[in-house]
Amino acid sequence: MAKKSAKEIFPPRPRALAARQQAAREITERLAELYPNSQCALVHRNAFELLCATVLSAQTTDARVNSVTPELFETYPDAVAMAGAPLEDLERILHPLGFFRAKAKSLRELSISLVEKYDGEVPAQLESLVTLRGVGRKTANVVLGNAFDIPGITVDTHVGRLARRWGWTREKDPVAAEMDIAKVLPGENWTLICHRIIDHGRQVCHSRKPACYECGLAQLCPSFDLLNGMNS
Ligand code: SF4
Repeated sequence: MAKKSAKEIFPPRPRALAARQQAAREITERLAELYPNSQCALVHRNAFELLCATVLSAQTTDARVNSVTPELFETYPDAVAMAGAPLEDLERILHPLGFFRAKAKSLRELSISLVEKYDGEVPAQLESLVTLRGVGRKTANVVLGNAFDIPGITVDTHVGRLARRWGWTREKDPVAAEMDIAKVLPGENWTLICHRIIDHGRQVCHSRKPACYECGLAQLCPSFDLLNGMNS
């Protein structure tokens, strides 16, 4: 039988929601101490740039996205300009990211939709954002939280994995996980908490080998014994 990976084992968790909320509060307070400066890592100046950068960040790193967006937004600064961009030129600029043809198409088509349906502006509603090409719930929540100050839970690979390790959810489906996480976290801080979780996932609580013995959350983490018993 194949060996289970760390993320497939769930820790025990309190049955009562209030107890789960209290445990989550302790973790988020500690995260705030550990990561006081967490913020969106995608460089942007407005909602349109953030929307495009987030679409581009699929299957690549934020740093790589940040390496191409200066030329992209210098050349095509808004939805009107991007809607009229030659695909070959977008593909040339986006080439370092991988999936550059699909991403070029997404940027142009979402820009055409913005021009046709929203006067070239980025809508501030989740239901509208997810109708745009290349934009799913995760991207929409990034845009809402960081460009419009509308709190959203961004369930990327880090947030999903850490939420499972902390007993906030057992779901692997991002939307189902988002619903579980929303029950234990205070709504007004969703966006910032997600930035902190992502930083912790990138720096300490790695997918394959979480650095539990160097982790500032070790005493609060219900997976500590589980993962270290398993790894030994
Ligand atoms: S103790 Fe280990 S599993 Fe828990 S948050 Fe820290 S690194 Fe992740």
